[in-house]
Amino acid sequence: MISKKYSVVDTRRCVSCGTCIKECPKDAIYIHKGCYAVVDTDICVGCSLCTRTCPADCIALVDREVVS
Ligand code: SF4
Ligand code: SF4
Repeated sequence: MISKKYSVVDTRRCVSCGTCIKECPKDAIYIHKGCYAVVDTDICVGCSLCTRTCPADCIALVDREVVS
């Protein structure tokens, strides 16, 4: 079953610290070319662990659009 939410990174504010990557139970986050974190939205289950631990407060949960 697909989650109702997923997280997105504000890439302008991300400092590539990797905290979110360590926190994510689904391994849904990677650092793009050493510059900023990217969430694989197909894997993310919207658990919010990353959004709560990001020291730069730059990950937010957003609603997944329902495809009917
Ligand atoms: S919301 Fe949960 S599953 Fe999604 S990227 Fe963050 S820690 Fe991983
Ligand atoms: S925890 Fe926040 S600042 Fe650190 S890599 Fe993840 S999104 Fe970027």
